[in-house]
Amino acid sequence: MENCLFCKIIAGEIPASKMYEDENMLIFKDIDPKAKNHYLCVPKSHFKLLADMTEEQSEMLKACFKKIPELQKELGLENGYRLVINQGEDAGQTVFHLHIHILSGQKMGWTPA
Ligand code: AMP
Repeated sequence: MENCLFCKIIAGEIPASKMYEDENMLIFKDIDPKAKNHYLCVPKSHFKLLADMTEEQSEMLKACFKKIPELQKELGLENGYRLVINQGEDAGQTVFHLHIHILSGQKMGWTPA
């Protein structure tokens, strides 16, 4: 997808601190971390919202959710972690290529506002 930041990172046109990559996903460090550990897991196929997802993309997302716990050591998830998917304006989505935030390494509160 033209002009999509995460498509450009996946294509290697913009640098990122990569943690894991396979045919379905790329996992890299968030540039502006909101927790001690903050990674983004990005399916390689471009779509903005879960509501837009095709069957094929849902398989890709499933692969992401399967892989994340397998990387608990590499990503520092041993003591617990939080996954967040911001969807649309109220949630504050700023990059319109679906991604899973992976947050860990500290105790986290529960205050969406
Ligand atoms: P969201 O607000 O849910 O769309 O999340 C977008 C995330 O992308 C934010 O947490 C940003 O800090 C992160 N981000 C923006 N640009 C970059 C970049 N070049 N490399 C890594 N993370 C980025």
